[in-house]
Amino acid sequence: MPIYEFVCEECNHQFEELVRASDKNPPKCPKCESEKVKKMLSACGIRPHGIPTGSGGFKAPSCSPSG
Ligand SMILES: [Zn+2]
Repeated sequence: MPIYEFVCEECNHQFEELVRASDKNPPKCPKCESEKVKKMLSACGIRPHGIPTGSGGFKAPSCSPSG
């Protein structure tokens, strides 16, 4: 089951959420319950064909679970 990472645009809180195929609605921020969340590409679990390799500046999210 794919786990996506989301970031809240309100409080910048990052969280992971299981996304089911039948569930297209993005989750709410568990911190401030805002619906303005953006889905991020996770470095672990998802392997995109092309990874943007800039000259620094792009930081991949950590794979270690931080509860
Ligand atoms: Zn939030």
